[in-house]
Amino acid sequence: MSVSGQSGQSDEASNCPPWAHWLLDHLQLGLLVLDAQCQVVFVNDWLLVHAGLTRDAVLSRHLLEVFPQLKNTSFERALKQAVASGYPTLLSQTLNPAPFPLFLSTRQRGQDKVLRQSIRIVPAGFKASGLMDQRYIFIQINDVTQSVIRERLLKAQSGRLKGLSEIDVLTGLGNRRRLDAVLPQAIRTAHKSAQPLSLIMFDIDYFKQFNDIYGHLAGDEGLRQVAQALNEVFRRPQDLVARFGGEEMVAVLPETDGQAALALAQQALQRVREKCIDHRGSKIATVLTLSAGVALCDPASALTTIDLLKAADQALYLAKSLGRNQVCS
Ligand code: GH3
Ligand code: MG
Ligand code: MG
Repeated sequence: MSVSGQSGQSDEASNCPPWAHWLLDHLQLGLLVLDAQCQVVFVNDWLLVHAGLTRDAVLSRHLLEVFPQLKNTSFERALKQAVASGYPTLLSQTLNPAPFPLFLSTRQRGQDKVLRQSIRIVPAGFKASGLMDQRYIFIQINDVTQSVIRERLLKAQSGRLKGLSEIDVLTGLGNRRRLDAVLPQAIRTAHKSAQPLSLIMFDIDYFKQFNDIYGHLAGDEGLRQVAQALNEVFRRPQDLVARFGGEEMVAVLPETDGQAALALAQQALQRVREKCIDHRGSKIATVLTLSAGVALCDPASALTTIDLLKAADQALYLAKSLGRNQVCS
């Protein structure tokens, strides 16, 4: 490799094309060549610019003298391993985000804007390879800052999308997908922690008649009001209120026994009645009402998600058949 000319780097061979040095300096990555004693014999412009160093401060010096922050790091261990084994090593940016103190500009030096790096260490120069008659170590440093930023954005975006995909657009409650994700996990946690878990299923009374009399848009508003009432009652962060389907909603209540769940269900019914949403079509009241079925998953039982939903549905059916506007378990 000819590294002569204005760079002042050692001249090792003379058969290098005239553009080779220009090319090395204009690569958008850092290049270092060390000799067998880890003394720097070549450094390209990209690395000098981003390290804020002059060529004189780097050439013919031991790498760890130039970059003392690399001592006792994964980089130093990888370097030793590459030299000992003769095989290339890749330092992933996930585990070693920024071994070299490289910055986008001198302005950002010390302002925590260190470039994220992916580093490849390649030992070379074995006689057998016929390339060189001495050993060298090539270090290639890629700036992966933009990929890291992109990756972070994508992760945040996919988290947001996942959140949105589990929300019911009409009511803002969790949707069926959210319930399907949360309920099995809540049951597992209840069993593990030997805590009770309750599930309440709600259904609006005579809602078909409500739609028929007031129209579908008023029906939608009724659903929103009921959702709001449930959110007002089930306020603990571990509670989940989800729209199960149509005008049915469920509350998943960890660490809640049957008695407490019954009381909360009664509160929810009361809260909806207090909203005084006119319902001329109801056969049991003048305002919109709910019925509810409560099911308990106690630590001793081996109830599955399906069992629990079925039990709540049966209790709800009982509440309907006993005249609606009431809670059964
Ligand atoms: P019950 O007291 O036995 O529950 O009678 P119901 O009329 O409430 O029950 P039914 O299952 O016959 O009717 C449910 C109604 O809920 C019918 C359907 O149009 C209405 N519904 C379901 N989803 C929506 C919705 O998103 N918006 C509106 N406006 N209505 C809905
Ligand atoms: Mg229904
Ligand atoms: Mg109904």
